Amino acid sequence: MLAMLAILAMPGVPVVLLLHSPSMPPADRPLRLMAILAHPDDESLGVGGTLAKYASEGVEVSLVTATRGQSGKYYGQREPGKHPGPEQLGRIRELELRAAAGVLGVRQLTLLDYHDQALDRADPGEAVRRLVDELRRVRPDVVLTFGPDGVYGHPDHIAICQYTTAAVMAAASSTGDGGAHLTKKLYYIAWPPSTLAAYEAAFGRVVSTVDGDVRQAVPWPEWAITTVIDTRRFWPEVWKAISCHDSQVAAYEGLKNLSPQHHEALWGPQSFYRVMSTVNGGRTRETDLFEGIPA
Ligand SMILES: [Zn+2]
Repeated sequence: MLAMLAILAMPGVPVVLLLHSPSMPPADRPLRLMAILAHPDDESLGVGGTLAKYASEGVEVSLVTATRGQSGKYYGQREPGKHPGPEQLGRIRELELRAAAGVLGVRQLTLLDYHDQALDRADPGEAVRRLVDELRRVRPDVVLTFGPDGVYGHPDHIAICQYTTAAVMAAASSTGDGGAHLTKKLYYIAWPPSTLAAYEAAFGRVVSTVDGDVRQAVPWPEWAITTVIDTRRFWPEVWKAISCHDSQVAAYEGLKNLSPQHHEALWGPQSFYRVMSTVNGGRTRETDLFEGIPA
């Protein structure tokens, strides 16, 4: 939360810009959901059930992925142990991402092609401008991204949270090209204790090591979860999308022998923190990201 508050207080991005009413979209068009994430596989492992559910309901789902994941390890099943080099790995992961996005029903995929594992060292002004361009082009009603914890402290996840939060605010400003766009609701991925427990049962400890320090995932308190989407019946689609990521899938070895019940627990309830909404509020937990927005 500290990161978000710091951005809200950022000079030159007055919060009041969110409160006026730039170019509202026509009421009769389909609802639009945009996920802005860091790596190929984030869309499937992080929010796959949510994307699949809303796509199946006719929501226009778009995905912005910041990197091609070229700096990761290679776990390909087709040629095990044979790392193809970062450039080729980036190409492979882009294809895997496109396949997974297709399985989940994503209509538009934008790859920003920032360098994997270095997103937090990108030029923040440039990154925010590029996201503003995407927001103004696609004009989503709802945006979701990582939380300030990056789930397990991953610097790329934390960076995309900060860029996205700043971009949602800046896109609502009347300055710049493309026409101001007011995103009605912004969400962060927020794992409660039950979700972290399900992931740790499948993957082992969820940690990252950054500058020599081990960052252990810490769950969000139940009371801070504003929104839980029931996506249990979409777990087969999510598992199929995850399986598209062949170059990473062996790292998820523990997933292959899971029972359907464990798959449901992993990909079923997807939890979020509502960062801001111009259409609803209060303490009642939401069951729909579009609550308060006329269909
Ligand atoms: Zn990631």
